[in-house]
Parts: sequence; structure tokens; C-alpha cells
Amino acid sequence: MSNNPMISIVAPIYNEAGNIRELYRRVHAVMETVGEPWELVLVNDGSTDGSSEILREVYEQDTLHIRIVHFSRNFGHPMAVTAGMDYASGEAIILIDADLQDPPEVLPDLIEKWREGYDVVYAVRAEREGESWFKLTTASLFYRILYRITDVDIPLDTGDFRLMDRRVVDVVDGMREKHRFLRGMVSWVGFRQAGVEYVRHKRYAGSTKYPLRKMLRFAWDGITGFSHFPLQLATYLGFAIAALSAVAILVVIYLRAFTDAEPLEGQATTLITVLFLGSVQLISLGIIGEYLGRIYNEVRGRPLYIVRDTLGIEREPHAGTRMDAREK
Ligand code: UDP
Ligand code: MG
Repeated sequence: MSNNPMISIVAPIYNEAGNIRELYRRVHAVMETVGEPWELVLVNDGSTDGSSEILREVYEQDTLHIRIVHFSRNFGHPMAVTAGMDYASGEAIILIDADLQDPPEVLPDLIEKWREGYDVVYAVRAEREGESWFKLTTASLFYRILYRITDVDIPLDTGDFRLMDRRVVDVVDGMREKHRFLRGMVSWVGFRQAGVEYVRHKRYAGSTKYPLRKMLRFAWDGITGFSHFPLQLATYLGFAIAALSAVAILVVIYLRAFTDAEPLEGQATTLITVLFLGSVQLISLGIIGEYLGRIYNEVRGRPLYIVRDTLGIEREPHAGTRMDAREK
């Protein structure tokens, strides 16, 4: 770490016209108190609400600190964050949401912990304001399931609001997987990680870009990306049903041979069994399909995102470990 390490703050922007100026104002105010050089990398993820014009305005107001990357279309939050990390040049990189749910006032706490020697400092939501009961319970349930069935220890109740040391960012940048469950990837990388608690606020302006449908997609990405458990479900179910059938066979033989009972009369039993097994098989097939689809996306090898334009960025993005470049 040099004496005056540069700090990069990365925020993805998707239709955040009402938040950009306020984000800049607050980040600027906070970072001036920290006293290190800093940059704010704003990645415009195909906004259609005039965010582009506001971004240009903010850039012209402060060309020293502002870096802007425009995508050719909407690629989604994980890609926007990835691009921000690719283009960031700091020794510490901080991911923050543009809607000010993650208060910039927490930045000095994160930087403080990083100075203590931690490589990843994630912000833990001690409290969440202005979120529905439904979102809170499903989110909490999701993190606990994920914790149980995956092989990486993803810390509970953390989002993407976190600081990462350059070493960590280099490794994560080198992981060009197409389904990017970032908080899982960062945990997987290891190094020394620590948490700092904060209160998650409500959105400053605008509305969430993560409706239930996208949340489910996100949760499924997290589970399939870090666990084979769904694939093994079919095996477990198969064994369980086989055991059940063996018992049923014995029972039927007994009833036929030693009693007058007329077991399993009518078609309902047959129908239910066939439908039950049929649906179990279809679901298993669907789960295999999910993993197959992921493999398909990987082998196609398309780029993660496409950049239309940049402002205030001179160097090429680095996609991958640049261990050599660090020595220079
Ligand atoms: N975002 C993005 N691309 C998208 C959706 C969201 O860059 O396709 C950004 C958005 O502008 C915000 C951050 O990701 O800065 C988090 O999104 P949001 O606040 O809508 O999610 P929530 O906090 O409701 O989970
Ligand atoms: Mg938000």
C-alpha cells in the first residue's frame, strides 16, 4: 500500500436520474474528510430516463474525480458492478448502490477497517429502513438457505456494499463467469474479511429495479452458482421413493396372500402415483436444464458487457489478474 492510496467508489446506475447528483454530493463531502485521492466510477447500465445527461453534467463539474462508463444497453446490476471494478484504478474499491440506500457516510468506517489490514470489509445491515415485511423475510430466508447448502461462507445479511482490496478485485476480475453472484464470488476468494454494521436506509428517489421476478432469478443464481445440491435432490428423492415402493410391494403381497382385503381398488391410486412421479421427473429434468443452460452460456463465451462510451477514463480496463502491472 502506498502512502496515499487511491480509493475507487463504484456505483451502478440504472435509471437513477433523481439520485445521481445527491450521490455525488454526499460521496464528495465524505471523501474530502478522508483525505486520500479518490474517484467515483459511475457505470450507466443502459438508463433511459435522462441519467446519461445528468452523468455528463456531473462529470463536467468535477473531471478530477468522476469516471463514467456507458453500456450499450442494460446488462444488469452484476455486470455494471463488474465493469466498475474493471475500470477502477484504486488500491481499495468500494461498491455502493446509487440510490443512497447504502449511506456514503459509512465509507470512512470501511476504509478504517481496510487500513487495519482487512482485504474485504463488507457492510452488514444491522437494520433496514423502508423495506416491506415480505422482502425482509424472504431475503433473510434466502441467506439462511444459501448458508446451509453452499460450500462458501457467504456472510449473512450483507449486500454488495463493501470495500475490496486491489488484490481481491484482481482475482474477482479474473473470474469471468457469466452468472455473477458477486457476494458469493468475493467470499469464495478468501483473504482476511471483516464486517462493519450499518443501517440501510430507504431509497432517496425513484423505485426499486429488483421486482420479485428478478429477486427470484437472483436467488436461484446464487444457489445454482455455488451449490450442486439441487442436482442431488433427484438422487435423494429417487432413493426415498424406491424405499417407499419396496415397503408398498411387501404390504400388497401380504394383503393378497393372507387376507380377504381387496387392496388398492380403483384408478385413483394409479393416477396419483403416475402424476406424482411424472412431476418429480419433470422437476428434476428442469433442474438439469438450469445447469445445462448455465454451461451453454459459459461455452458461448460472449463478453460480459459492451461499452458504448467512457468519460474521464484513460486506461484500458483490466479483465483479470494484473499481478505484473502491480510491480511497475
Ligand atoms: N441497477 C443496475 N442495473 C439493473 C438494475 C439495478 O445497474 O439492471 C443498479 C441500480 O441503479 C442501483 C443498484 O443497482 O444502483 C441496486 O438496485 P435497486 O436499488 O433497484 O435494488 P434494491 O436495492 O431494491 O435491491
Ligand atoms: Mg436499492
